[in-house]
Amino acid sequence: MESSSSSSSSLNSNPTAENDDQTTARRIHRLSLHLNPTLTDTTTIEMVTCAARAKLDVNTTQLTLFMRGKHRDLQEKVYEFFRSRPDLQTPIEISTEEHRELCMKQLLALVREAGIKPFKYVVDDPFVYFAIGEAAGSVDVSFGIKLGVQYSLWGGSVLNLGTKKHRDKYFDAIDNVEYPGCFAMTELHHGSNVQGLQTVATFDPLTDEFVIDTPNDGAIKWWIGNAAVHGKFATVFAKLMLPTHDARGFSDMGVHAFIVPIRDMETHETLPGVEIQDCGHKVGLNGVDNGALRFRSVRIPRDNLLNRFGDVARDGTYTSSLPTINKRFAATLGELVGGRVGLAYSSVGILKVAVTIATRYSLFRQQFGPPKQAEISILDYQSHQHKLMPMLASTYAFHFATLLLVEKYSEMKKTHDEELVADVHALSAGLKAYVTSYTSKSLSICREACGGHGYAAVNRFGSLRNDHDIFQTFEGDNTVLLQQVAADLLKQYKEKFKGGTLTVTWNYLRESMNAYLSQPNPLTSRWEGEDHLRDPKFQLDAFRYRTSRLLQSAAVRLQKHSKNLGGFGAWNRCLNHLLTLAESHIESVILETFIKAVKNCPDASSRAALKLVCDLYAMDRIWNDIGTYRNVDYMAPNKAKAIHKLTEYLSFQVRNITRELVDAFDMPDHVIRAPIGKQTPVEAYTEYRQHVGFQM
Ligand SMILES: Cc1cc2nc3c(=O)[nH]c(=O)nc-3n(C[C@H](O)[C@H](O)[C@H](O)COP(=O)(O)OP(=O)(O)OC[C@H]3O[C@@H](n4cnc5c(N)ncnc54)[C@H](O)[C@@H]3O)c2cc1C
Repeated sequence: MESSSSSSSSLNSNPTAENDDQTTARRIHRLSLHLNPTLTDTTTIEMVTCAARAKLDVNTTQLTLFMRGKHRDLQEKVYEFFRSRPDLQTPIEISTEEHRELCMKQLLALVREAGIKPFKYVVDDPFVYFAIGEAAGSVDVSFGIKLGVQYSLWGGSVLNLGTKKHRDKYFDAIDNVEYPGCFAMTELHHGSNVQGLQTVATFDPLTDEFVIDTPNDGAIKWWIGNAAVHGKFATVFAKLMLPTHDARGFSDMGVHAFIVPIRDMETHETLPGVEIQDCGHKVGLNGVDNGALRFRSVRIPRDNLLNRFGDVARDGTYTSSLPTINKRFAATLGELVGGRVGLAYSSVGILKVAVTIATRYSLFRQQFGPPKQAEISILDYQSHQHKLMPMLASTYAFHFATLLLVEKYSEMKKTHDEELVADVHALSAGLKAYVTSYTSKSLSICREACGGHGYAAVNRFGSLRNDHDIFQTFEGDNTVLLQQVAADLLKQYKEKFKGGTLTVTWNYLRESMNAYLSQPNPLTSRWEGEDHLRDPKFQLDAFRYRTSRLLQSAAVRLQKHSKNLGGFGAWNRCLNHLLTLAESHIESVILETFIKAVKNCPDASSRAALKLVCDLYAMDRIWNDIGTYRNVDYMAPNKAKAIHKLTEYLSFQVRNITRELVDAFDMPDHVIRAPIGKQTPVEAYTEYRQHVGFQM
């Protein structure tokens, strides 16, 4: 491959060629930069033509304290345990089989040796549970997911969908991984459309058992984590069939969850009637053993029905506190949102790692420079700032938004407040979809921003990208989840016009909807002063205006099209519009949360840094969607231009405090791991050379 220096020779054209002395001086200068990286910042900043103001003075200790999660001590315990156990660290090259065994060992060691037992926190204090999950995921993303399958999916289904008898019987053995288990919902023919599942559980009153059957090959449970190798049990989602005393024979009561043993407790042999196949090597997450399950008349006791929302008596009578199949289905799925909350939270953790590696490397990596002067840091190229600085700002924004989500979810688990349940359901769907999509794209951008060295496996982007990619699909496909957000917004919109109450996160629509219905103010649409653009009120108004407008127009379009196309057809006709609406709403919630976090930050210097980052987040998002604002004259051309200029300027300002901002994520060295993500260029290049085998 040709190196970029030859293809970019115009940048180094001859008039600027150095003589030997200059070359030596430049090399010495560069060496000194390696020894004292902060020098890089000051020298290169001077060369940037953009009018710079004084660099903010950030107190990293204070900012780190503010950013620190509540349960950092527990996370430190996890980090320390794995740091002290090289045998439990995942090597860069590992076979699928070894990786699966290693992940199981990591899980067992966490629980049985380090004594960190996540299960009790799944319901009692989810904040702690997610903190442990994040720490486990930093050891190996596969390990984090394996832990999630055991405790959040398999364990969570038993706790959330079962009753006391299930908790009493299974809690301890799930807790200490004596009962590794699976969550078997997805089928070969039905993934997102859970209501279309075909596996059946038929009640047999003669033996007081359910009979689990896979009626056709499309109903084979597919992709089931823990199934291929380790699982002893599975929570199987199946249509409950009850015998009737009429010609129909059976009545379909809708999808319910059942505990089905799949392997012998002693021999680990697959049990009679159960067939298990391995889903094989995947694009990523190969430490998790995904498998496929087929059932042929597998009998389980009646007690194995997870009966929180519907029960079957000895005589086959069905009882439920919920009146319809749809309500029971919604309640069942509603209990499973914890997985989504966890994924959104972990996705931000992965984004922090990637952004830290990419920005640290971009700070010390130097390519080209003005004639006869030192090369400059690649982060001083405007294009590079454009790639990484809004991403850094978004990482901060998502940090606060997912904290809010976890807080709301924890509160919901305690109070079961109905309004909060609805709020968390939509917020978790929206944030999971938005954040994981953003992180997936960012991982590629980070890789590219680090050039060829970003492609070395040791520098982590490849495994992070491959392991994280599926976050967009499991626990609800992102496109499907965003539609749930849009549907909820439309429901709230109708409520508003009926005079009903709006749930907490949606409250802003009450005011902004009124603002939308009036015309944009021709005066404010021209205001372009920096103070105005950086005023949180202007920013929030702009975000909310966009959402309200999209909501109102979506409602009108849906009504218009449903006359000819029916509800389903009209929805499909407006689908892209609806997805944009959902994203716009989520961005409004993210910005609102960020603004509040800035306000609540007790340390003045950290508050100033966060305000800068928050402004960049807001400007970047507005600029990203400037067409929408221009189309309706919400912003005049001069204002749009001012926003663009301000976005670039803020990116530049954020670049000046990048080191402090990424350090405040406080990612321990062994979490960053990538040599090019080390604190100083000396450390980074030394470790990187050693990795390739050069003696130091
Ligand atoms: C590694 C891995 C682990 C998994 N672990 C488990 C597990 O432990 N247990 C379990 O039960 N499942 C598991 N799954 C399954 C996972 O939950 C499903 O893959 C997911 O729900 C999506 O379903 P699907 O794959 O059938 O995709 P589909 O639903 O077929 O979606 C395919 C595409 O169609 C689009 N699409 C679908 N419906 C719509 C719509 N209404 N509007 C617009 N677009 C639409 C989607 O956006 C997507 O791009 C796992 C999957 C993987 C890959």
